[in-house]
Amino acid sequence: MIAVSTFKDKRVALFGLGGSGFATARALIAGGAVLTAWDDNPDSVAKATAEGIPTADLRGLDWAGVSALVLSPGVPLTHPKPHWTVALAQTAGAEIIGDIELFVRERRAHAPDCPLIAITGTNGKSTTTALIGHILTASGRDAQVGGNIGTAILTLDPPKAERYYVIECSSYQIDLAPTLNPTAGILLNLTPDHLDRHGTMQHYAEIKERLVAGSDTAIVGVHDSFSALIADRVERSGTRTRRISKRQVLADGFYAEGSRIIEAQTGATTPIADLDGIQTLRGSHNAQNAAAAIAACLSVGLSIDEIRSGLASFAGLKHRMQPIGRRGHVVFINDSKATNADAAAPALSSYERIYWIAGGLPKEGGITSLAPLFPRIAKAYLIGEAASAFAATLGDAVPFEISGTLEKAVAHAAADAGSDDTAVAVMLSPACASFDQYKNFEVRGDAFVGHVAGLEDVTMLVETSTGGK
Ligand code: ADP
Repeated sequence: MIAVSTFKDKRVALFGLGGSGFATARALIAGGAVLTAWDDNPDSVAKATAEGIPTADLRGLDWAGVSALVLSPGVPLTHPKPHWTVALAQTAGAEIIGDIELFVRERRAHAPDCPLIAITGTNGKSTTTALIGHILTASGRDAQVGGNIGTAILTLDPPKAERYYVIECSSYQIDLAPTLNPTAGILLNLTPDHLDRHGTMQHYAEIKERLVAGSDTAIVGVHDSFSALIADRVERSGTRTRRISKRQVLADGFYAEGSRIIEAQTGATTPIADLDGIQTLRGSHNAQNAAAAIAACLSVGLSIDEIRSGLASFAGLKHRMQPIGRRGHVVFINDSKATNADAAAPALSSYERIYWIAGGLPKEGGITSLAPLFPRIAKAYLIGEAASAFAATLGDAVPFEISGTLEKAVAHAAADAGSDDTAVAVMLSPACASFDQYKNFEVRGDAFVGHVAGLEDVTMLVETSTGGK
């Protein structure tokens, strides 16, 4: 745990007692802050009180002399409207921050030179974060990986020289980290998302821009126009800027040419890595993630050999285009995280011939946007509530069956794929939420793994202890 020393003996209010809220409360108390914590959920408050965290309704707090309001990232600072605590803090002149800000102040106070790599973007954050963490660890560095990826930042080991931090940041977290100053900051891409919270695309982009604007080296994907403009702006302001692209050749930066990632700099090009054969980094979206990881690792001093070796041994993240089993020429892919058509597209683009398991609780727009990828689908196995709507969209374009359940879909797809005469993928990439049949996409993905593990003669590539519904 990182004890937060920068608020020693100061009064701090904290709102939001979810997982990261608890970690933040403990870290503040350990550092000597005078804390008052609260949540709208009485169960969370009771749990905190039982643990010795001082709690009180912040409406009744004497706000005079409160230095800071620490918010959980899920609590709205601005959109759709500021949380009620925000007005109280503003009236009292207390700053409003989150756990990432507490961390960067701690780093500044105790180990300002320890490398901090921060990652944001609309898509690919977790993959890139995990990949950088893996490359660092594989090279023997002490890498601490946390933030939005699931490990609360203040539960990591305390900052010290030679310790590397790899932190995934959602826009909510950036909004609450006004002095975030990474050694390398990555903005992967920007597409409309979470606009309920941020109001407009402009505002969403502005928040993401802060992460790279505050970096020593800004690493920016230039595939979308919002990010490309941000790269120009950040560079003009004097920040060292490395552009990355999954398609276009760059005069300066890192770009993908086929499966190779090339670095262009001062007129020379150097092939840095070849992703061919790395199952966990298939697809142009992963070329973007890998290029960003390469740029970040180079900027914190890793050698090209260390980076290449880390890329090659990356195990990937669960439920995201994850190769989980193999039987002869058939590979089984768990892409349960793809809960809408946009998220399923990269997986469908990454394999030539697919036995596709899709369906669940449908999202608006269904799978019509995936039509250009239909020629890759050998047959579709439709499950859950979306089955008949998806069947109507597939029409005559793709052979399909309504399997109903995931178990049946796996059995039928595996049998059909087995009698195909070329290399194929049996892929769960549902383009739907899971809630009609499963608690969440993780449980759905684990069930898929369990069903695949139950097939005869399959070689599993992952552990199967959590399989089954
Ligand atoms: P995030 O953490 O930003 O939600 P993940 O790394 O968890 O992203 O990836 C989630 C899904 O997003 C992947 O399964 C894939 O379909 C898609 N994806 C991953 N990287 C990218 C990228 N660079 N560009 C577009 N889509 C991506």
